[in-house]
Amino acid sequence: MAYETKALFRDDAYLSTAEGAVVAINDRGGIILDQTNFYATSGGQPGDTGHFERADGSRIQIAATVTGETKNEIIHVPTEEQAVPEIGEKLVLHVDWPRRYRLMRMHTACHLLSVACPFPITGAAVGEEESRIDFDLPDPSYTKENVTERLMEMVRANAPVITRWITNEELSANPGLVKSKNVRPPMGNGQIRLVLIGEDGAVDSQPCGGTHVSETQEVGEIHIGKIEKKGKENRRFRIRFGSLPAGE
Ligand SMILES: [Zn+2]
Repeated sequence: MAYETKALFRDDAYLSTAEGAVVAINDRGGIILDQTNFYATSGGQPGDTGHFERADGSRIQIAATVTGETKNEIIHVPTEEQAVPEIGEKLVLHVDWPRRYRLMRMHTACHLLSVACPFPITGAAVGEEESRIDFDLPDPSYTKENVTERLMEMVRANAPVITRWITNEELSANPGLVKSKNVRPPMGNGQIRLVLIGEDGAVDSQPCGGTHVSETQEVGEIHIGKIEKKGKENRRFRIRFGSLPAGE
């Protein structure tokens, strides 16, 4: 049987702490709650780590968060040799916030890169230190220097980043909203979560279930670390924090 976990991070990515009650413990010791602020691995963004705080103040360390039988079932995987909470027990859920915030900044940077390089995306991964996107991009005129410059212009413009739910019909009527070639937009209750950057999505709009910062300036200083050719028409771009190293 699949459980439905209320995903609090969808409406508020900044919820570093929340409360949840234990609904089930699966056969591998994974903890399933009625609701959670822990993001589950999906769409190229790694799931959250952190700890649960019990009523007596003791902690249960969480090593990973993943989805179960369905995308709506969220499973918190404890590190080894942790206490097992009771069914119905209320816990305070603490996300490892410095890590998650870096992932939010990186994830938002990936959206900006898809604007700076408006080509079909064939793969993507968000990481704490580095993210990557693969594009179908035969044109060699996109360099780490000029793409970095374009990215930082969008960061400095401090555009708002908001989410909006639209219906399948609205998405079908606007197929240009989906930029990824192989990634299916996240669905739920016949609704799709759209992430808009800029007023009414003036900078970018695409379906996404991940967590983002609320204004592009929060992404901070980033640069393109390396562009690798992955075949005739495919290029892999790596995004890193900090400014472009001089003389590279
Ligand atoms: Zn996203």
